Amino acid sequence: MSIKRPEGTNDYFGEDMRALAYFYDCAKSTFQNCGYEYVETPIFEQTDLFVRGLGEASDVVNKEMYSAISGGNIAKMIAGETLPSKSRLTLRPEGTAGIARAIIQNNLVEQFGQPKKFFYIGPMFRAERPQKGRMRQFYQAGAECVGSSEPLLDAQMIAMAQDFIMNFCNFEASDFELHLNSIGCENCRSSYRELLVKFEEQNKEALCESCNSRIELNPLRAFDCKNETCKSIMEEAPRITDHLCEDCERHFKEVKSFLDYMNVSYIIDSSLVRGLDYYTRTVFEFTSSAGMGSQNALCGGGRYDHLIEELGGKHISALGFAAGFERLKLAAESKGTRFASNEHPLFFIVALSEEARKIAREIILNAHSNSNALVEMDYRDAEEGNSSNNANVRSAKSQFKLADKLKARVAIVIGEDEINASVVQVRDMDTHAETNVKLDRIIEYIANWQGK
Ligand code: AMP
Repeated sequence: MSIKRPEGTNDYFGEDMRALAYFYDCAKSTFQNCGYEYVETPIFEQTDLFVRGLGEASDVVNKEMYSAISGGNIAKMIAGETLPSKSRLTLRPEGTAGIARAIIQNNLVEQFGQPKKFFYIGPMFRAERPQKGRMRQFYQAGAECVGSSEPLLDAQMIAMAQDFIMNFCNFEASDFELHLNSIGCENCRSSYRELLVKFEEQNKEALCESCNSRIELNPLRAFDCKNETCKSIMEEAPRITDHLCEDCERHFKEVKSFLDYMNVSYIIDSSLVRGLDYYTRTVFEFTSSAGMGSQNALCGGGRYDHLIEELGGKHISALGFAAGFERLKLAAESKGTRFASNEHPLFFIVALSEEARKIAREIILNAHSNSNALVEMDYRDAEEGNSSNNANVRSAKSQFKLADKLKARVAIVIGEDEINASVVQVRDMDTHAETNVKLDRIIEYIANWQGK
């Protein structure tokens, strides 16, 4: 039986790999342009970080984490020992909790100081049911602005996320939607929560099992439910935006006015609550139908003014977002984007004898150290049973065929006549124009070749 890659993961090569590399490049340039600093945190963290950060009632913590136990701890666990929390590890399902932990541990942000801006790019892991746009290992690029509750920062971050999506997907404004909401703070949420629990209790019979199980724990999550009956019931539910405290109301109003100022269009969506417990005030999501199946959220984020405190740090307000590579790629492809290879012109040496192959090897070694050009020759191993001296020398026709296949721009032909005259024949593979170049000038020729 051959071993396959785990379900919901991907091998990246060819155009897919180029798309992933472009995702990294595009995120780096967009975020660095806005003053964000690239950071990298471990791919696994202590399980407790996610349980405390994301909340026990969240789907991610409840049923989607991949946890890991290292070496000798497996034997201890089998023997029934309870492992200390530092030995219980989980592959990161998202990036924010790790960054918050790193901020606390390395004292990266001063309380009441100027906010700091960080971004990350990398793989995340969730044990979800795989489908189009939903993977078990997927890639996110995300940004976090830490240290202030200033609404201008919310609007600027949303505009930056929009720029990133538009750049990567080649989108026009009509290709996506920005959904925006405020879910308030602990002050307005507690009285709103009571109202919502009451509403959900009244509709208990009709709500699905999972909404029922979360009425007390996290009643907001019923807004996220995909069940049609729950959706239509929740349309009648009290809306948080009608119950915001004065401060949250003002904050939300200012975020909207800054977005208006920047001409960023949005849809107020009071059913948008986001799946993780740590969000406060502003929440947003970019969605698109371009190339998407039911997983149409390209990017999501919001404020998390209490997360750092919850994890043992000081009270430091912050906000962030993450965009998923797999869905952005589907969207980009639906707009006709191709992730073409970097056009490095390829020179291919057609060597017609063993003697010519020696010269070819020398050209390749020198070209590599004297220019950025790519130079190849026919490296195919000798066919079995062929033991002649010229075992690796295939016919000119066969070598030209290979040059075509590799999309070489220039062929450099070395035969007996050329060796005798100390020249090589250079042939443009598109126009078939030929010219002779002196052997001792060929490296210079390759280095200066501009293409025609
Ligand atoms: P979240 O961390 O759940 O707020 O998701 C942020 C973004 O990450 C989403 O909008 C998706 O683009 C992407 N994403 C989340 N989960 C997955 C997944 N299982 N597979 C692929 N992309 C995902």
